[in-house]
Amino acid sequence: MISPYTAGEAFALGCTSVIAIAIRLNMVQLALFSYSVLLGLFVGEIISLYILAVPLWLARSWIDDSQMTFKAYTRQDKLNYLRRFEEIVSSLSPRCVHCYELYSGSRRLALLRYLFHNNSCSTCDFRSQDQAFRPQLVTIIGTTYVVVSGGLEPKTLIGLFQLWLLIAIAFISVRQHLVPNVLTYPLLWGNLLASAFGLAVPIESAVIGAVVGYMGQWLILIISRFTIKQELVGYGSFMAGAAIGAMLGWEQGCLAIAFAYILKLGENMVRYRKLLGPTQLVPLGHWLVMSALSIGMLHG
Ligand SMILES: [Zn+2]
Repeated sequence: MISPYTAGEAFALGCTSVIAIAIRLNMVQLALFSYSVLLGLFVGEIISLYILAVPLWLARSWIDDSQMTFKAYTRQDKLNYLRRFEEIVSSLSPRCVHCYELYSGSRRLALLRYLFHNNSCSTCDFRSQDQAFRPQLVTIIGTTYVVVSGGLEPKTLIGLFQLWLLIAIAFISVRQHLVPNVLTYPLLWGNLLASAFGLAVPIESAVIGAVVGYMGQWLILIISRFTIKQELVGYGSFMAGAAIGAMLGWEQGCLAIAFAYILKLGENMVRYRKLLGPTQLVPLGHWLVMSALSIGMLHG
């Protein structure tokens, strides 16, 4: 049990904070607040499913590749992976990973499944360890913050688009030690487009930010490869750096990326008592996301 609260206490705490917030906000803001919580719940569910599906999806492509080259996996392995992949992703419905039964009722949403059912399956009683409620909770809080602070403006939509992609990047980075291009490309292109239409940082700053965010980290890789014979960073973080550079502009983008490296070195010091852990500076994506979000929030 990670949470020190029981489900009932957590629910009471949630209700109290909603009432406290309601007193401080007027009715329009209250409506905006409620809708953004619902939006966060819905999008958070999709993000948490997507995060669960990524390893299966990667396994599927690895199996496809390895079958072509080594014929290493049995047909049954492949069928098992395919079955889980199709079941979880294609229906966009969460299932018990033990008995494959569809979750129903309030078990359908990751956060409610965690709060009220202890992540257990109603059919086989298996307790899932997937912690899918975490990205959902972060999405709800972030969505509410962006909508309530931004109001009904085009910039709020852009902010939500950035936030949702960044949340998925952070959680996949921690779980899988990689940052999928399928998330960083839309973030990069979306940010460049927003700048081109004058809805974000100036386009010059965004383009320079994208180049510097990528090339700066690429230089770190090249230098570390030739000096200490280790590859300190992964290619996924280059693309994440480019997307963040385009999002914040080159000055704040560089600051965010540098800050992320400092945080990662700090994490390694705390966990391994040395600057480079067993996987060097990987995963880095969650620190990139956290520093980008904090710097983005500080500057509106
Ligand atoms: Zn089950």
